[in-house]
Amino acid sequence: MRDIESSAAINSIIDALLVPAGAPGIFGRTEIFERTIEGLNRLITDRRESGAEVFTFPPVMSRSLLETAGYLKSFPHLLGCVSCLSGDEPHIRGLVEKADWVDALGATDLVLTPAACYPIYPLVAARGVMRNAGRSFDVSSYCFRRESTHEAGRLQSFRMREHVCIGTPELALQFRQRWITRAEAIAQELALPYQVAPASDPFFGRMGKLMAMSQVEQALKFEMLIPVLSREQPTACMSFNYHLEHFSEIWDLRTEDGALAHTTCVAFGLERLALALFATHGITIANWPATTRAALGL
Ligand code: AMP
Ligand code: ZN
Repeated sequence: MRDIESSAAINSIIDALLVPAGAPGIFGRTEIFERTIEGLNRLITDRRESGAEVFTFPPVMSRSLLETAGYLKSFPHLLGCVSCLSGDEPHIRGLVEKADWVDALGATDLVLTPAACYPIYPLVAARGVMRNAGRSFDVSSYCFRRESTHEAGRLQSFRMREHVCIGTPELALQFRQRWITRAEAIAQELALPYQVAPASDPFFGRMGKLMAMSQVEQALKFEMLIPVLSREQPTACMSFNYHLEHFSEIWDLRTEDGALAHTTCVAFGLERLALALFATHGITIANWPATTRAALGL
């Protein structure tokens, strides 16, 4: 394994793989980077549990669905909302000719999707009582988060692949545990150094600190940490989340016995995983370990 000595190392890797696109945390992807992401996607598809329903969601979603999901309580600081100009042609022409045209923007019914799993709960709820408890879903989306810092690997726009289970508490927890084991096997196959550690979400404000502490106490979130920036402070590349009845209460998701379902989601941050591969094995794919290349079909 290569030595990740400093953030200078990852910055030169990023320069070779991602092209700055005029705003912090926003990059174009090179072909070699995209081929790696494709390999990761294939590998994750290959490990999918049988019977999973597969959906790809767009990078925007319904604002009212995200409001209902409680996102504004927990993460208002990360949200991006789609704003547009409206009116007839003379009105819009008049607006865009002014330097302060931005002030005329109005919020629309769309927000930028902040995590791939948000659209799945209302979609399943709309089908009524689940006949088949323990259903699983494989969802993916470009995600947006208005991050306040922009160190390597912290993007504003990135792709997330998630496996979601909606079922009884036992089935939901077993699903998460199976995926932790599976994710460890994936990291080993890719020859990536990793550790799985308790974690919390970046909840907003002072109340948020309490929510984060309670999340750790209840062991609701774990992350797989892999060196990207440095060995000492590895980066969260996957997360394993147990929401208890949070989403089921909101959307009235019930199993066949009438009880509220429990939900779990397992998230793969595709750009971070790709960066971890390059940080660990170097910029030249031909020099990567054979097991890593075979797993990714590269
Ligand atoms: P989370 O919902 O915060 O657990 O995020 C799921 C996964 O998405 C994380 O484990 C990361 O791999 C990835 N991720 C989250 N935020 C970012 C970001 N700002 N830039 C790149 N990847 C991210
Ligand atoms: Zn999720």
